[in-house]
Amino acid sequence: MTADTPPASLGWHRRFPRRWARERQAFGDHGWAHRVRYVDGGVEVHVDYPLPAAEDVAARTARLKVVYPRQSYPAWMPVQVFDLHDELGVTRHRDPTRGLLCLVHDADHDPTWTAADLLAIQLPKLVRSNDLTSADRLAASTRGLELPVAEPRTVYSAAPRRVVVPHTNIPDNIAGGALVLRQRIDRSGVVVTSIVDQILGPGLNIQNTNLDVLDSFPIVVTGWWLRLPSWDPTETADQLWERLSPALPALEVSGDKDPLIVEADPRVLTVVGLLVEDERDYGQPGPCWMFLLRVRTGTTRDGAPVYGTVLLAGLELNDSTSTRTPIAAGLADKKVAIVGVGAIGHHIAADLARTGVHRLDLVDCDWVDPNTRARSYGPVSHAGMSKTAALAEHLRGTALAGSVGSWDINVTRLFEHDADADTERNRRRVLRTLMDADLIIDATANPNATAILNAVALNRSPLLTVAGTPGLWGGWVALVRPGQTGCTECLAHHRADHATLRDSRWPTPPADPDGWTSPVSCSEPTFTGTNSEAGCLSHHASRVAIHHLAERRQLGGDYYVATLRDDQGAPTPASWRSVDLPPHPACENHHP
Ligand SMILES: [Zn+2]
Ligand SMILES: [Zn+2]
Repeated sequence: MTADTPPASLGWHRRFPRRWARERQAFGDHGWAHRVRYVDGGVEVHVDYPLPAAEDVAARTARLKVVYPRQSYPAWMPVQVFDLHDELGVTRHRDPTRGLLCLVHDADHDPTWTAADLLAIQLPKLVRSNDLTSADRLAASTRGLELPVAEPRTVYSAAPRRVVVPHTNIPDNIAGGALVLRQRIDRSGVVVTSIVDQILGPGLNIQNTNLDVLDSFPIVVTGWWLRLPSWDPTETADQLWERLSPALPALEVSGDKDPLIVEADPRVLTVVGLLVEDERDYGQPGPCWMFLLRVRTGTTRDGAPVYGTVLLAGLELNDSTSTRTPIAAGLADKKVAIVGVGAIGHHIAADLARTGVHRLDLVDCDWVDPNTRARSYGPVSHAGMSKTAALAEHLRGTALAGSVGSWDINVTRLFEHDADADTERNRRRVLRTLMDADLIIDATANPNATAILNAVALNRSPLLTVAGTPGLWGGWVALVRPGQTGCTECLAHHRADHATLRDSRWPTPPADPDGWTSPVSCSEPTFTGTNSEAGCLSHHASRVAIHHLAERRQLGGDYYVATLRDDQGAPTPASWRSVDLPPHPACENHHP
């Protein structure tokens, strides 16, 4: 930084005085009356913005307040413009409580525009979008203008949205009922997040069935819910309680206690769910959830209870995973088994669960060792637990998969009868699970396990196999499809051929010559390399799996080879080459 570049802690108008002069000049050039105010180290301009005369309205001005961001102007972030007195008359793109106008998205911001330019360009559009009649709606959407729907009020007036609600469509004729809410608190006793567990009413019983999620919400609060057509966003939580509480029936204190959950005493903590009419989805009005929570915070000197009341907005979970990822629709009936959930497999499991496969089965024989957590799922809190069970529990709470199963077995023993009845039953179930899967993913990095899985999948189901090379200098992914490609043993033959021929058309992943930290002969080699490098390979494998499952589409080949480092071990941008994987004439599996 040089002496004539003032530090960024100064307001932008002091760092860029010529730009500030141009900003002020621009308001004058438009002929708008304006006043500059220096406020708290920043700058504001109050503008009288002229509105044109309409059929029944005379020409007038709107008093707007233009607030410049303190430091980031003009490079980032548009100015904030407030229509404090609601004089533009717009119902959309104006926060009704603060009067803040929504004029430009960050991505559309042009740093060469002055604030006056921004007003001159955007305000006429904003005013015009508000005047659309219903006949204009279709045309408006094709012109890129907004439909005249009220801005969402809940978002502005009652952030944060900390009460999660399952996707509900409560019939219009049900006006209210009972509600069960569960809460999670942090170590200092503050409620972090609540989730609606049950919604009851005449002929209505909506139960959140995701018990794995509910395990983390130990406090149970009972209460009521009701429709509130007379919702007024300016009404405070206390005023709402005064208005609604006389009509609420008494709550009973439950007799039977579950020792694992804490039931809140309704005299201490109650909740009222409110269904209000608001912007449910973008541009779509509909019922939205608000929650009034009433907590006894203490007592007066004479022993009378003191209450605090808060209003929170509900966060409704979508019923469809494919809103944000349309390809997920093709996964909604697919079953995938992932064998090996270590450095590579845990990434793939998270990808597939998050993208929404119907059923995910995790197979491994390892247990959680927190010392492997640099490159694997291994929380200290789950040390010693089955690796698949721990990962499945984690995925159920965070992902969109229909269900996640976990199986504890060493797949190299998959075809060996076991004398122990329980172990034998488990073995048969795993075998059936693998045979039923739409795709088996082999992330074991163990050639013996790969051979077993190849035998299970042969002539039956697709098998995706993925592994990193020593040091994670590179890696490979192969998608073996019955009747269409060779198998994993064909792959070994092809590799051997091309290694002998030194055929440059056949890609070979680079490997660290000193990469193994345990002998190559060991069936469970531990290699060096970071979680992000394992992630590069894993996420490619996930993409191959997802496009195959949802669309029967290959990504330009069957065998993919990654390069993450050059031959000297210097890191490079990840690059992939791919080739087809035809059956090999020497493979016994195709030519008995
Ligand atoms: Zn807007
Ligand atoms: Zn083969």
